Amino acid sequence: MIRTLNLTCSRCGKEISAQGHLHYQDDFSVQSFQDIKLVCDQCIADWKNKWQIADAKFEEHNYVLSVTITLQDGTVYKNMDCTPIEDTESVITGEDIPPEAQHELYKYYVAFAEEKESQQLKDCFFEKLEENKFSADITTNGGEHYEKLLFSVEEGYLKTEQDVPDYIMDGLVNAYKSYLAQEQMLSMSTQPAPRPPQRRAMPESQWNTGGGFGRNNKNPFGDF
Ligand SMILES: [Zn+2]
Repeated sequence: MIRTLNLTCSRCGKEISAQGHLHYQDDFSVQSFQDIKLVCDQCIADWKNKWQIADAKFEEHNYVLSVTITLQDGTVYKNMDCTPIEDTESVITGEDIPPEAQHELYKYYVAFAEEKESQQLKDCFFEKLEENKFSADITTNGGEHYEKLLFSVEEGYLKTEQDVPDYIMDGLVNAYKSYLAQEQMLSMSTQPAPRPPQRRAMPESQWNTGGGFGRNNKNPFGDF
């Protein structure tokens, strides 16, 4: 059976005059050649023209990267999942983006990644002031410095006395967690498990008659 495919653009509906090649939309639901979604040169040009990125803001939450893109025509694409591809220096998103714009997006991503790196804590030293009260000396990779930043820990929440940016707070919480883990390890290594009581009878000559059982202890057996 021979069929005929009308060359019409699936976007604007106009007739396509093919010259050597055809553009079509990738679509996995297309089963038959007749359902193929052709796109005309003008719609391709409009699409490329539309994707002039004015701004792109990346965010990372729980290791999931998303981006909000503003185009020069004012269109905003909010919180799109995205994946940076280092090899091709491009960023892939859920939206169909021209390769030129994918490259452009990658530049924004590199700037984001560099800023994030500079905000990581390089050093963080703690001093315990009293129970649940600490001070921290913090330096970021970018050279930002906080001297004697006071914070307290109440009901599992860490609270600083002055307002700090979120990235400082995140870094501080992580550093404090490893500080706690380290303290716990140290206290475990300096406090050996209690030994079983020694009940062996000792000759009378070896009874300790003063001190020696600890700083404040006198002869534990009283005067005799
Ligand atoms: Zn068209």
